[in-house]
Amino acid sequence: MIHEHVVCPFCGCLCDDLEVTVEDGKVVNTKRGCIIAKSKFMNHDRDRAKPMLRKDDELIGVSIEEAMDRAAEILRSADHPLIYGLSSTECDAQRAATELAELVGGTIDNTASVCHGPTLVSVQAVGVVKCTLGEIKNRADLVIFWGCNPGEAHLRHFLRYSVLSKGLFTQEGRKDRTVIVVDVRENASTKLADIFLKIRPNSDFEIISALRAAIKGHEVGDVAGVADGTIKEVAEKMKSCKFGVLFFGLGLTMSKGKHMNIDAALSLVRDLNDYTKFAINSMRGHFNVAGANEVLIWQTGYPYSVNFSRGYPRYNPGEFSAVDVLSRKECDAALIIAADPLSSFPLRASEHLAKIPTIVIDPKNSMTSLVAEVVIPTAMVGVECEGTAYRMDCIPIRLRKVVEPEFPSDKEVLEEIIEKVKAG
Ligand code: SF4
Repeated sequence: MIHEHVVCPFCGCLCDDLEVTVEDGKVVNTKRGCIIAKSKFMNHDRDRAKPMLRKDDELIGVSIEEAMDRAAEILRSADHPLIYGLSSTECDAQRAATELAELVGGTIDNTASVCHGPTLVSVQAVGVVKCTLGEIKNRADLVIFWGCNPGEAHLRHFLRYSVLSKGLFTQEGRKDRTVIVVDVRENASTKLADIFLKIRPNSDFEIISALRAAIKGHEVGDVAGVADGTIKEVAEKMKSCKFGVLFFGLGLTMSKGKHMNIDAALSLVRDLNDYTKFAINSMRGHFNVAGANEVLIWQTGYPYSVNFSRGYPRYNPGEFSAVDVLSRKECDAALIIAADPLSSFPLRASEHLAKIPTIVIDPKNSMTSLVAEVVIPTAMVGVECEGTAYRMDCIPIRLRKVVEPEFPSDKEVLEEIIEKVKAG
């Protein structure tokens, strides 16, 4: 059977034009997706998790019912449970996770706290001029990539939405656009750039401030390794384009200055709208990390790092973010959903996660599941079950199911655990 218009559940581009061929309940071919999409679909049945419980320091196979019973018991008896992850699952599961966090009076955080968290803080402080990827494809004649490398991280971004895509007012594709890349080193994306601004590491704030000054006609001089003339040239291109967009990634959010960098970038784009039409969009990594923020916002008012210990939501990144809660040993149990914090968190946080009773809900085995007390396998979202995900520009897209699952979905497992916690 050939499934058309399948959405790729891997990165924030959420490409929705894949063709997936299934034979005997197995994916045998994919078309149009990038190499990552192909690997995700073709290998969806490899290295799958099984229901497991830790007994005598060893993970042993159990029924999924037993695993869910133990998960409910752990969450019910914990004083300060942490629920974390959620960027690689769909919105209904994220909603159920929020309900569970409220029920057990825990902290809920998503992976934005270690990627675009500073962006979300700045958007609340400054405001944001956004647009959809469709508008960029159809209209953008100036595209800037700042601290991100879609040439390696979002493989079809250039082709579908930005540099190479052909749209209503950009029918010549690449010829109709000027491309500027700002980064500390050359990479796959800089090769496509008309102008590559190679800046000194951790000098993003200075360069953005210099551009803001240059746009308003002030003298700036050389800044952070970039010549005065180049700053003026880039500022002029920004002011004189018909429709510009600034995409940015972790090179901006996680370098020195963090949310101050984003405050400056959002302000730069706001300033530019005095002269032309300009927008700014964040390059989101996991396929539904944007959804994790959206769902938590419409459930609690806040995008990440939310605590329910007083019975109502409190928001404080740095206090209620997963890394901080774990590093300060402030949680006594953890539920990890569709994420693998152990492979990326700092040592102190990982050590505590390995010591406390941890429940992992995930379709695949991971570093975190190796130290878990309970492993609950689920259907792979966008391959074995449906759901909604938010693209990097916050457009909700419905994910498809192309093969039958062996295990229930994240949402079904979470709803079952909620019932068990309530019953207890
Ligand atoms: S660019 Fe991202 S969403 Fe598109 S096919 Fe590749 S991995 Fe999937």
